[in-house]
Amino acid sequence: MRKNYTCIICPRSCALEAEIEDGKLLSVKGNGCRRGAEWLSSEITDPRRTISSSVSVRGGVREIVSVRLTAPVPCDMIFPIMAEIRKVSVKAPVAIGDVVIHDVLSTGSDVIATSCVLANDE
Ligand code: SF4
Repeated sequence: MRKNYTCIICPRSCALEAEIEDGKLLSVKGNGCRRGAEWLSSEITDPRRTISSSVSVRGGVREIVSVRLTAPVPCDMIFPIMAEIRKVSVKAPVAIGDVVIHDVLSTGSDVIATSCVLANDE
């Protein structure tokens, strides 16, 4: 079976044409580099994505802090992880890289802060 994809690894967004049989990638055309073929192989067998979101902050000069995952997770974990992220709040001060949720839902990925929020009294 032939199927078309767009590589999401870099801004060049190469149009990939894949030949797939029994869930395995037989060949790929259109990739501008080796990373495109590697991404497509994993996209077909174990698709993963990362998440950016925000978490509420208690006692800070801002009410939310931006967060992201430290590693891509299986696509079917995106909504459960978003639900976990919505449940938590952090106490100010928050620094970039602070772990908000360690090993979220046993995926091996942490939720970390990507900005800082000073405490109200600082
Ligand atoms: S195939 Fe390579 S050059 Fe093309 S979008 Fe993917 S990473 Fe970028």
